[in-house]
Amino acid sequence: MADRAVQFERLLPHQMESALAECPTAFVPLGTLEWHGVQNALGLDAIKAQALCVRAAQRGGGVVLPPLFGGVGGVDQPYTVVMEPEPTFHSRLLEPWLSVLCGELKRVGFRAIILLTGHYGASQQMIVRETAVRETQRLAIPILGTPEYWLALDAGYLGDHGGFFETSLLMALIPGLTDLSQLQGDPPFQGIGGGDARQATAQEGERVSEVIVSRLVTLARRMPQWDAATRTRFLRAEQALVSHQLEAGGAADNVWAAWANIQHFAAYGELLAAERFEEIGELVRTG
Ligand SMILES: [Zn+2]
Repeated sequence: MADRAVQFERLLPHQMESALAECPTAFVPLGTLEWHGVQNALGLDAIKAQALCVRAAQRGGGVVLPPLFGGVGGVDQPYTVVMEPEPTFHSRLLEPWLSVLCGELKRVGFRAIILLTGHYGASQQMIVRETAVRETQRLAIPILGTPEYWLALDAGYLGDHGGFFETSLLMALIPGLTDLSQLQGDPPFQGIGGGDARQATAQEGERVSEVIVSRLVTLARRMPQWDAATRTRFLRAEQALVSHQLEAGGAADNVWAAWANIQHFAAYGELLAAERFEEIGELVRTG
């Protein structure tokens, strides 16, 4: 039912009651306000994350929170709003905001939460996943905190910044917020990273979007059903991933160190959706 209301702030109480009865999973889209090249809207990250969550909820159930346009870090370019500087391994704003929100979402009736960040400084990624791990333990409901591209690594999307993939995703998800004619000359283009944005297409954005959305649908349906043992297996895998990212970053004194071999984790999205958590742990051990 592609047109059903799934956005928290737009639901009437009886619609919320029905939504929770069908699938008590909350999607929390995260992003920021940041330069994404001359060709993309400045709110790309949160807009993209919200649109992916809305597609997933409309297809498989769940409720989508309003997106957060505020994150950790951001490229040093015009109109970037940096709420917390990078690099950092801790957070004074994002982490407490997410922690309180998770508690509130459980209190009002949700039984699983997906924190989906469309903004990916390394610090933002670690803080989101680490907060999800801790809140999974505190609240005893499954909470996943991940960048959206980790669900599509096996589709070739290894994360970029306003490059070929992010531009393609925005073209597919929200037509009208991208203008490729603004890109003049040859790469490198100002303040973007990744593949050549001039080659971006809505078709490619749809392909990657479908991989991400299909996995979100599976997770949103399954997570509220997980028993305590399954939740613990999930928790162990996510804890291992967080530890790996923190330890690699700490040892190298480089917050991005754990991303040096990102392709090693290509199976993450497939394994997560299939609840093959021990195999995620194995990826981390060999990563
Ligand atoms: Zn972005």
